[in-house]
Amino acid sequence: MTKAARRAAAKKAAHTRKKNRTSKGITSTSPRKIAEEHYKDNIACVWCGYPIQSVLQVAHVEKSTPKNNKPSNLVWLCPTHHREYDLKLISKSMILERREFWKNDPKADWSNLFGLSQKQLSARARKAHKTRKTR
Ligand SMILES: [Zn+2]
Repeated sequence: MTKAARRAAAKKAAHTRKKNRTSKGITSTSPRKIAEEHYKDNIACVWCGYPIQSVLQVAHVEKSTPKNNKPSNLVWLCPTHHREYDLKLISKSMILERREFWKNDPKADWSNLFGLSQKQLSARARKAHKTRKTR
């Protein structure tokens, strides 16, 4: 890449970043924001139920349409299961089935894993979420 091309690419990226930012510095139409709003009662990895939002990632169900940020195309996954989904170790139909499952069933209780009460774990998760840097 030439120097001029690099400069043009950097300028374009900066413009895109600026365009996507709101006054709070958060991308208003990011898949993450959309998933936070739409799935606010079910923010957990749909595969394993891992609940800490600052660790979780939003994946596109249909990978061929990464700009489709409709809630139906978004799913919460922990980093491990996101990677497994990307590697096709977990199929799309299984992911969709699990997303439905979590809508109707109680959340897994991960508090024992951390040696914390559910309340303590929630407090830590909230704190972690507040201090999470937007990417
Ligand atoms: Zn998971």
